[in-house]
Amino acid sequence: MNIRASDENMVCVTHLECANCGLEHAAGRLWNLCHECAKPLLVRYDLSAAGNRLDRGSLASREPSLWRYREVLPLADLANPK
Ligand SMILES: [Zn+2]
Repeated sequence: MNIRASDENMVCVTHLECANCGLEHAAGRLWNLCHECAKPLLVRYDLSAAGNRLDRGSLASREPSLWRYREVLPLADLANPK
């Protein structure tokens, strides 16, 4: 599942993946740990989609803050970060 808000607020999170057993968990909801083995989850991204939007020029022109990397932040909706 690829969660996308508007193009301006596009995020590239595809799912969460257990670091231990590899089980995929849906993005867009709260998971504390893997529901099978209780190990930490990793955020997985559609890096091809992020790469299509990001280049050195676009990064250099953005505000010098964490939000510069918004396409690869683990948020479902950049307009309403929770
Ligand atoms: Zn697991």
